[in-house]
Amino acid sequence: MAGNRTFTMIKPDAVKAGHIGAILNKINQGGFRIVAMKLTQLSREKAGEFYAVHKERPFYKDLVDFMSSGPIVAAILEKDNAVADFRELIGATNPADAKPGTIRALYATSIGENAVHGSDSDENATIESNFHFAGVELF
Ligand code: UDP
Ligand code: MG
Repeated sequence: MAGNRTFTMIKPDAVKAGHIGAILNKINQGGFRIVAMKLTQLSREKAGEFYAVHKERPFYKDLVDFMSSGPIVAAILEKDNAVADFRELIGATNPADAKPGTIRALYATSIGENAVHGSDSDENATIESNFHFAGVELF
């Protein structure tokens, strides 16, 4: 099972802009299967906990404010080589550096408000999936 799942969030900017459908379409077209999904909103506390690894970084407060500012879509995705292939599909953190056709190139507006999250390792994919979906049935 290791290596075939990743965790994503469609961030508040992309939800507000009406891009949920287009982004889910890119995810499916990219060969990912959705095994769990929900529309939810993070409290400031939960957003701070999710991004705790960045708490010493200068952008942390803005990131927590942004990620708790509106609804998100959280999902667990399945595909061979899921973590690396999903990072490829979403593109660089800064949309100015993201390859044409990637989700961030298409839908992100800035390095902070960059439309989607994608796990950076199998270990974090498991931690982040459990953060949002502990005890939930996966399909
Ligand atoms: N971020 C930011 N400014 C930066 C770097 C990151 O606002 O200089 C935000 C951005 O929303 C990013 C998140 O913090 O997606 C997590 O940063 P990370 O370096 O883990 O980027 P990612 O893994 O999301 O590409
Ligand atoms: Mg990251």
